[in-house]
Amino acid sequence: MTDIATETSTRDLALLPKGHLHLHMEAAIRAETLQDMGEEADIYIEMPDLTQTYSDFTAFSNTYRSMLAVLTTPANLFRLIDEAVVDAAREGVVYVEFGASPHFYAETFGSTSDALQIIIDKCAEAGEKYGVEIGLMITIDRTESVETANAYAEIAASFAGRGVVSLGLANDERGHPAEDFAEAFAIGKTAGLLSTPHAGELAGPEQVWKAVEVLHADRILHGVTSVQDPALMARLAADGICLDVCPTSNLLLSVVPEIDAHPLRVLLEAGVRCSINADDPVLFGPNILSEYELCRNVLGLTDAQLAACAWSSIECGGASPELKAQAKLTIDAWLAS
Ligand SMILES: [Zn+2]
Repeated sequence: MTDIATETSTRDLALLPKGHLHLHMEAAIRAETLQDMGEEADIYIEMPDLTQTYSDFTAFSNTYRSMLAVLTTPANLFRLIDEAVVDAAREGVVYVEFGASPHFYAETFGSTSDALQIIIDKCAEAGEKYGVEIGLMITIDRTESVETANAYAEIAASFAGRGVVSLGLANDERGHPAEDFAEAFAIGKTAGLLSTPHAGELAGPEQVWKAVEVLHADRILHGVTSVQDPALMARLAADGICLDVCPTSNLLLSVVPEIDAHPLRVLLEAGVRCSINADDPVLFGPNILSEYELCRNVLGLTDAQLAACAWSSIECGGASPELKAQAKLTIDAWLAS
């Protein structure tokens, strides 16, 4: 056993091809870039104290929103995208599915659709430059009205096949349940977008059930409270619905009391597909490679489990069939090495 353990911990995780499926675009900014931009614009950016948990979800959400103040100039947004993509490439990410909120930039670029087109073009440019494929997940803010969500879904749907691959749903689950967004997700599904809501983070497994049965989720962002419900885990496993898990985010938002209580291993052992992600790296600390290292060193995932997570992060995302086929070969070769 010791030999296997030693051997399995030596494979280089940077060389494992990964998809980053749960990454909110704004929070993929480098901390030093955010501070530079704040100084240039004379806006004070309060950087989070990563040695402690956020006091509550609202505090986290307010910090996220405060970053937007410096990102509303085209040059800053383009710098963010360029650096986020080169950082992804350096960590062995071959596919990024950015969670994008183009309505943040509607005023800068004229309209939400115009902003979305510009973000798609800039992502494609950076992706080409650094050899990373990029898809966009348009993220509905669940604290907005159903009408706003539906209108947003229509915009996302109109870009299906042209850079947008999935429809997301984010922000505080409590008081804003998945089932309110049935119509928006039906619009997305009809257009061929993957259904990728956040669920089972701040709320319990009942919200994951709703995401599965009402929103017809292809993947669920977080979904970790599914571990409380064996029937739900069986359903996720049977349907191959992937959970896009973010261990450090769960720790700092007190979804788990301590990191070694994180349920990722239990979920994998129940046959649930999972990907490993950073969620909001600038607000939580680690980027994706460090999250993989944490999953190996702290959560005790074997290299076979890490490779399975990497494969889920490729197969369950909106990447092209060519990229999926190539990544499968490289992941298999990594594990066989
Ligand atoms: Zn998230």
